[in-house]
Amino acid sequence: MSTRAGMPRPEVRPTDQPPEGAVSADAQPMLSFTPKRRGKAPTHLVDLDLAARKKALTDLGLPAFRADQLSRHYFDRFTVDLQQMPDIPASMRDAIASLLPSLVEPVITQRADEGMTLKHLWRLFDGATVESVLMRYPQRTTLCVSSQAGCGMACPFCATGQMGLSRNLSTAEIIDQVRQAQFACRTGELSGGPTRLTNIVFMGMGEPLANYKAVIAALHRLIDPSPEGFGMSARHITVSTVGLVPAIDKLAREGLPVTLAISLHAPDDDLRDELIPVNSRWKVAELLDAARRYFLATGRRVSIEYALIKDMNDHVRRAKLLADELNARGKGWAHVNPIPLNPTPGTIWTASTRRAQNAFLATLRDNGISTSIRDTRGSDIDGACGQLATAVKDSHRSAELNTLEGNKRANE
Ligand code: SF4
Repeated sequence: MSTRAGMPRPEVRPTDQPPEGAVSADAQPMLSFTPKRRGKAPTHLVDLDLAARKKALTDLGLPAFRADQLSRHYFDRFTVDLQQMPDIPASMRDAIASLLPSLVEPVITQRADEGMTLKHLWRLFDGATVESVLMRYPQRTTLCVSSQAGCGMACPFCATGQMGLSRNLSTAEIIDQVRQAQFACRTGELSGGPTRLTNIVFMGMGEPLANYKAVIAALHRLIDPSPEGFGMSARHITVSTVGLVPAIDKLAREGLPVTLAISLHAPDDDLRDELIPVNSRWKVAELLDAARRYFLATGRRVSIEYALIKDMNDHVRRAKLLADELNARGKGWAHVNPIPLNPTPGTIWTASTRRAQNAFLATLRDNGISTSIRDTRGSDIDGACGQLATAVKDSHRSAELNTLEGNKRANE
């Protein structure tokens, strides 16, 4: 079906029952906040905070201090192999194994950018598949993680959005993507030899703020120092959202100064209603107000992601409107990352011309907006989320991955 703007709409995904929290509007794709699958991953040691890990150990009849040892193996040595833990007595290993179920198994690994990019397709305990992408840059190494299997936000240009929401990932399913990336970095799986994982972006499959509880616990595991977690810098962690306004405000109150990235893609409701179905619930003005509040609460400059789509959202007048909307809320609080859409075979979505990109950027800059444009990373391996899982190109996510890198530099 075509829209007023000439875009094909995704098929409305049938649901067994009206999903809790679902948003629908005439001729709008159905958003879903309710997973299709109810199954929960088995509880894993890193679903729990350190105090709960100690309790889990004592419940097994083992000393609480073993929780510290196991946590250090996980968060410092990146191992879950009990055979590689000489300080854990052999007599305890069977009992402890129940707290270390294998949750995230590699299915496919692809390399690109001369070995500087690794993309993994993972199989979860119930057969669901998710992806992560590890990218090495001169000054840092970044992992893009998935937070849901599929996504319920139904963005029409996104492969993952067309899959629908299968289920939320558990904290441990998110964190084990990171542990395995840490291990890959340490053992030199990326070109250039051993390195350290420095940055995490929640820009893989799913809308992170729709899986709020597990994502917040995952942020703690990332940031809290060992043996509680990996001890990474909050400044080097980015959470992306299409605009769940109440969850943005909640995140601002968590005391975790991570970077917030807003996938905006249009500065006006007419167009954003078409591009981002959740805009039917929270409009551009509400979203930018929330983003500004996030900046005020955390001091972290917000990233505004803007995939440039030919003749769709790449007009100079829209660049001016975006600049006006940002300036109306203050100076210097947001950085805009425009990125030309990477064309998806078989669809009408195409990248803006170079001329249109330049005009868009120039308009932002002329109006005092900090902005930078990025090339895509890993495009030769379907570098965007949902592509391995669906075998469909999804250039939007690839764009997000790379534009985010630009903003992270700006924030550093
Ligand atoms: S663009 Fe992001 S929020 Fe939208 S459907 Fe894709 S994964 Fe979900």
